[in-house]
Amino acid sequence: MSPKSSLSLICVPVTEPSVGAFLAMSEAAVKSADAIELRLDYLSQEDLPALLTELPRRLDEWGKPVIITFRPAEQGGMRSLSLEARLDFWRNLPAVIVERIAYADLELDLIEHLDGRALLPWEKVICSWHNFDRTPGDLPALCGRMLRTPAAVIKVAAKCNRIDDCLSIFECIDLVRPDRKVIALGMGMAGLMTRVLALSRGALLTFGSLSRGAESAPGQPTVDELKTLYRADKLDSETEIYGVVGYPVAHSRSPLMHNAVLTALDRNGVYLPLEVLDVDSFIRDLVRPSTRKLDWKLRGLSVTIPHKLNVMKHLDFIDPVALQIGAVNTIVIEGNKLHGYNTDVNGAMSPLEEIVDLTGRHVAVLGAGGSARAICYGLSRRGARITIHARDQAKARPLAQEFSASVASLDGFKSDAAIIINCTPIGMHGHSEGQSPVPDADLSGVELVYDLVYTPKQTALLAQAERSGCRTLGGLAMLVGQAADQFRLWTGISDMAGVMWKALGGSKE
Ligand code: NAP
Repeated sequence: MSPKSSLSLICVPVTEPSVGAFLAMSEAAVKSADAIELRLDYLSQEDLPALLTELPRRLDEWGKPVIITFRPAEQGGMRSLSLEARLDFWRNLPAVIVERIAYADLELDLIEHLDGRALLPWEKVICSWHNFDRTPGDLPALCGRMLRTPAAVIKVAAKCNRIDDCLSIFECIDLVRPDRKVIALGMGMAGLMTRVLALSRGALLTFGSLSRGAESAPGQPTVDELKTLYRADKLDSETEIYGVVGYPVAHSRSPLMHNAVLTALDRNGVYLPLEVLDVDSFIRDLVRPSTRKLDWKLRGLSVTIPHKLNVMKHLDFIDPVALQIGAVNTIVIEGNKLHGYNTDVNGAMSPLEEIVDLTGRHVAVLGAGGSARAICYGLSRRGARITIHARDQAKARPLAQEFSASVASLDGFKSDAAIIINCTPIGMHGHSEGQSPVPDADLSGVELVYDLVYTPKQTALLAQAERSGCRTLGGLAMLVGQAADQFRLWTGISDMAGVMWKALGGSKE
């Protein structure tokens, strides 16, 4: 792997349409970023002169590297600009500004049109190329074309529609780096890892937006996420990589929890959201040490929906608990081998066992899906008596048979169970927030209600249970429990649940 670039810059693009707002955003960006990119194409032709008049003084004040970009609409910019208008802009850019900026971003077509003639000193020119739709297969050839220009920096930004596209982006860094400085980024959620790992792999800079909604390209993390969550400017070729594999993964809380632990331990590691559609090619090309095409120190993976089952055929060893549940949520990379585990059972059971003894207790499990399966496994091992309440009792029967449970209706829920565990999504934010899976049930005799749903923290079911005087347990307990167990499997370090709770903004109580 290439060594890290001596300059590791997190660059914030300035993307406001009026002079006042543009300057205010620049001031804010300078405070949080190592460099800023002034996207002058965000300003109208009428506003541009006022900004250019103000700029020399501001550039002196800011004292950080500044890039100027004037992108035409067909290449992702905000202005409809003819080739002549673009040439005019760069020709007329005042010398006092050119002297003070670090770089000017000129698109490849413009530079090829110049045919070697200089509009600006070449040591200040970034030659850029963008594709907002896809990552073409011939990116290395394109890099070769860009390397034939005299530009000091080569920049490639392409939309990654599949995580495998990140391989081409990283290949660009490796290809360009011996000759020139390089910026190579994958746009979109599937490309996020290229943005986080760019600096560690030798790129000159990576872009972070000032805030959510101020992105200059899809999938751009915020500068705060890059610096604080991922520590993108601290990573290097020795960094251990962990991540969550799923589709979708943008909403996952796992990066928050695991990165908080890596930071608290001051460990050279990072945990990434990995948006994966095709788990077969992902395992072959990015994970399995003997076949992967990426040189990286991948140590472990969390596996989430929809891959918990179909990942199993790729594993060299599967823990008996995961085998019996029929789902893997954790992969540990041991030398050349991939080992699979399921930490959902322990994650769900540990917080429950801290509150009640499950032996011989009657537990009502609501729902008969994946998490109900892990819960039933854990309950049966602890000697609980289980009734599964499902909207479709026929679907619940095979599960009930496997764990010697009874089946009952969810609709019109009636039970003498001491404990109720909700394993349906009812009450979840974005699904049916505010609803309870058992809206008309009298919960007054129930000892404990456990809701696996964790957004919102206080679900309608938990509120209903509290009103009836029951003890309650929310889904964050399981989320933290299974994550802490994953971290232990990867690193041998236990007891990190407290840090994870804090990262989620909560505490056990
Ligand atoms: P799943 O495999 O899709 O199972 C969902 C179950 O809920 C199925 O039995 C389904 O019935 C039932 N269901 C769905 N919508 C329903 C409705 N409107 N009325 C009645 N029953 C309904 O999902 P899962 O993986 O078990 O996850 C379930 C929920 O648990 C998630 O939404 C999540 O909030 C929570 N969870 C939390 C954690 C944690 O760490 N805290 C971990 C895993 C899951 P059908 O089969 O008839 O559709």
